[in-house]
Amino acid sequence: EKVEAGWNFDNSYARLPQGFFSSQNPVPVQSPNLIILNTELADALGLNSHALKSDASLDIFAGNKIPEGAQPLAQAYAGHQFGHFTMLGDGRAVLLGEQITPTKERFDIQLKGSGRTSFSRGGDGRAALGPMLREYIISEAMHALGIPTTRSLAVVTTGEPVWRETGLPGAILTRVAASHIRVGTFQYASRMGTFEDLKELADYTIQRHYPNIQSSEENNDKYIRFLQEVIKRQAFLVAKWQLVGFIHGVMNTDNMAISGETIDYGPCAFMDSFDPATVFSSIDTQGRYAYGNQPYIAVWNLARLADSMLSLFAENQEEAIKLAEASLSSYSKHFQQEWLNGMRAKLGLFNEEEEDESLVKELLSLMHSYKADYTNTFRSLTLGNMEDTELSDAPEFKQWYEQWEKRLDRQEESRDSSGHLMQKSNPAIIPRNHRVEEALDAAVDDGDYTVMNSLLEALADPYAYSPVQEKYTALPQASDFPYQTYC
Ligand code: AMP
Ligand code: MG
Ligand code: MG
Repeated sequence: EKVEAGWNFDNSYARLPQGFFSSQNPVPVQSPNLIILNTELADALGLNSHALKSDASLDIFAGNKIPEGAQPLAQAYAGHQFGHFTMLGDGRAVLLGEQITPTKERFDIQLKGSGRTSFSRGGDGRAALGPMLREYIISEAMHALGIPTTRSLAVVTTGEPVWRETGLPGAILTRVAASHIRVGTFQYASRMGTFEDLKELADYTIQRHYPNIQSSEENNDKYIRFLQEVIKRQAFLVAKWQLVGFIHGVMNTDNMAISGETIDYGPCAFMDSFDPATVFSSIDTQGRYAYGNQPYIAVWNLARLADSMLSLFAENQEEAIKLAEASLSSYSKHFQQEWLNGMRAKLGLFNEEEEDESLVKELLSLMHSYKADYTNTFRSLTLGNMEDTELSDAPEFKQWYEQWEKRLDRQEESRDSSGHLMQKSNPAIIPRNHRVEEALDAAVDDGDYTVMNSLLEALADPYAYSPVQEKYTALPQASDFPYQTYC
């Protein structure tokens, strides 16, 4: 009595014109082993998590067997990497197909680390266990924080080493995404494809991610409205990042998903003490993708999307540029609104006052001056125990606090309601770098997954102020070497 895993594939991306992908099976591996399975996500996808633990499913997660109905492919795309345009593509990933859930939702199922493809250039097509577990932990934490993101269904080891500076255990992550269509996919279409190819990609993407635009097919402003909706979703997304102190680390245009999900967890990390200049990625030597730059980089990337779609906006290029510029100029309004409303919630404010922005900015500036921990400052404000923070003895902070209390008193809602709003808006726990590293060290070096599992359990409920989360609020030990990430 074999239980079916529940795979239910469609392959709509494979029906796009040929240039958008190359058919590609994952490259088989020696001796796979299931490390972690996301049973909650499996359920949501209509998969049977019991069956997913079988050897047959292990072979699928490892790329040794193609599930029925899947049509594996590597996607072609281009992108601006640190400002420089390059032709790219899935160099170490394969899209198995799209899982259609019982509620008829569609999700890409991608194997990352699945071997060389026609886009691998000099790379080995493989991934190491540490980074794949890191993506699992952080993407699932982002999901629990309420931030749109790709998700992680499983990690398997391959039984083969990957060679970086040294030999590391190889692994494959099964990534789940609304889609993997990127700004870079449009750049690719515009550079390499015909006008019809570009139009097909746009029509496909609109139907898949912005179907309400689709419904007014008669309008010839469909494509500019599409751009405007993508702009809104990115403004929303990056505002969410800023509010939790998430630093993506490599906001190249090939790492920006048109769906509005966070994608590509390479060198990302969460900020500890508040500083807009914070950078963790070892390769981001200029600070292009620093915390405080993220909102500007997003709109720069969106301008690259607009560039690639100009021919769809209007036949006359000047006209098309005008339309694109007008749309791009709405970004800052959308971003500012999302960010400020989010900050109001973090401070327990329900209504809007003119001076709210300066109240927020004064607090951030104090946090910057006193090197206050971003997450814990808001957590302490929520709990009313500022004595534990870097700001406790700052005279300017006492003044700020009084202003804030007056502001709270000027709104109708009770202090109790404010407290609830703050708790919902200020995570008690984020995936702090030193705790993530500790979990990865135990897993990779010692094969001990208990540290990671405890961390994952706490991160799954970040707005619960309970002892499970409490364990993780301690800051890292002071270090002469700032934390660095590598991708
Ligand atoms: P990323 O910086 O992760 O966005 O990756 C940029 C490009 O490099 C993408 O086209 C990846 O597919 C490719 N890439 C990254 N790592 C490897 C690898 N180990 N082998 C082949 N291609 C890779
Ligand atoms: Mg990428
Ligand atoms: Mg990457």
